[in-house]
Amino acid sequence: ILAGRDCLGVMPTGAGKSMCYQIPALMFDGITIVVSPLISLMKDQVNSLIQSGVRAAYLNSSLTAAQYEMAISNAARGMYKIIYVAPERLMTGSFLSLASSVKISMLAVDEAHCVSQWGQDFRPSYMKIPEFLGKLPYRPIVSAFTATATAEVKADIIKMLELRDPFTITTGFDRPNLSFQVMHPKNKDTQLLSIVRSNPEECGIVYCNTRSNVEDVCQMLQEADIKALPYHAGMSMNERKQNQEAFIYDRCRVIVATNAFGMGIDKSDVAYVVHYNMPQNIEGYYQEAGRAGRDGSAAKCILLFSGKDYATNKFLIEKSIESSQLEPETAQIIVENKLRQLNAMYGYCNTADCLRGFILKYFGQPYSGYCGNCSNCTGDFVEKNITIEAQKVLSCIAKTKQRFGAKMIADILLGSKNQNIINNGFDSLSTYGLLKDNTRDEVNKIINYLIVKDYVFRTQDKFPILKLNGSSVKILKGKLKVTMRTKKTDTLNKEKVFTVSKSDEYSEEMYDYIRSVRNQLAEEANVPAYVIFSNNSLKDMCIKKPTSLSQIL
Ligand code: ZN
Repeated sequence: ILAGRDCLGVMPTGAGKSMCYQIPALMFDGITIVVSPLISLMKDQVNSLIQSGVRAAYLNSSLTAAQYEMAISNAARGMYKIIYVAPERLMTGSFLSLASSVKISMLAVDEAHCVSQWGQDFRPSYMKIPEFLGKLPYRPIVSAFTATATAEVKADIIKMLELRDPFTITTGFDRPNLSFQVMHPKNKDTQLLSIVRSNPEECGIVYCNTRSNVEDVCQMLQEADIKALPYHAGMSMNERKQNQEAFIYDRCRVIVATNAFGMGIDKSDVAYVVHYNMPQNIEGYYQEAGRAGRDGSAAKCILLFSGKDYATNKFLIEKSIESSQLEPETAQIIVENKLRQLNAMYGYCNTADCLRGFILKYFGQPYSGYCGNCSNCTGDFVEKNITIEAQKVLSCIAKTKQRFGAKMIADILLGSKNQNIINNGFDSLSTYGLLKDNTRDEVNKIINYLIVKDYVFRTQDKFPILKLNGSSVKILKGKLKVTMRTKKTDTLNKEKVFTVSKSDEYSEEMYDYIRSVRNQLAEEANVPAYVIFSNNSLKDMCIKKPTSLSQIL
């Protein structure tokens, strides 16, 4: 950027994206405009800049008309170095006339993936950015940043923002201090409670896929005497702000939220992020899960999966597109793309391979072997030959003429006596009850496994149907052996999962003491505790025990 080149930075949460444009902004002569999609994000960034003595402002719909005019006239008098602006504002008359009358050194686009309709968060207002650049008397340096982008999205950002020969950097996506776990619990509430209770001193985020789930889960936690608060877009601005602050200032331990929560929240001491539902894509998942452990401490990212999550997400995707009023053709492309992303997410939840490896490979970063810090690498697995079971499933699909989904197939194999089975006469099929010695859970797992491994094809219809493919036929003919890597136990091994590595011993007593001093300083300065020192820094002090200012420096 300092050499005057356009730039595209793909850097994970916590890697220091904002610094990459804020520091050049301070070194340049004129003003830097930062395009940012979220009001809460702008406000936080501007507040922290002002706290560091940087003259900055934001322009978005949260300002009154008078405040907006004031900010514009201050900007025209050169009072700010950095101005954050919502993409919708770029093409307004007052902003355009400001932009043409001052020296703009750089336009930085934050959350740049929003410009791509291949991304998980496409925002049409981002398309206005090149149009805006075209209206300026001269073209400033353009820099674009995002935390997550596949190769496809990267190419799209360069094209859509018309970046000129940009310097492109993709920093490693790996966050070694995060441990990844996928669980398939029978009862998500019980599982969640056990996770929260095993981390009594720490705070965490619980993500749910709908507002009503947020309310229910939050209430469940509160009834179990856990200080939890909800956060979702259906709540008033004020309530949201209060709950967010209660979380940041450690007045509540757990925030239960939809994906509306988190962009730009840089609370660094989040010890765990639990996804109560499977999210819609790996991009979103990694961004949300990545809010854990930003201070570098060991932290957990746990996903509680159930088969129902797939159907719910599919429904949510289709509904959101229906209400988006896009051209049918565009809508079709977007739906297909989102379902592809959903399938990858489903693959993550059902793979027996290293979870970290799965994510990194998804983002195009080669990774081989086992990380030793995810539930698949640390779990006890058994390699099981399930060819016979697979044949039973596949022949049941064939016998019912490939017209049904996973649930019906499982019902038949389990010998269910439900009305649907009786009405269709399926209780007289030769495959009826063939897997009745297995639990429903086991049968579901086998079917899921066959889908993930492409041994059977699942259609993308509203009610997905299972169909046989080439591999299915080979299995039925006994020409292909099926082995499944399954966990011996799906219950959480507390010992293994929840002990932070204690390679360096320190006194708990000393830690508690300086922690209380830190908290008091934070209270006096009216800032969150982690702004004074992160827990990790405190632990390090307890190990190194500096006794003079120069030592601590
Ligand atoms: Zn692993």
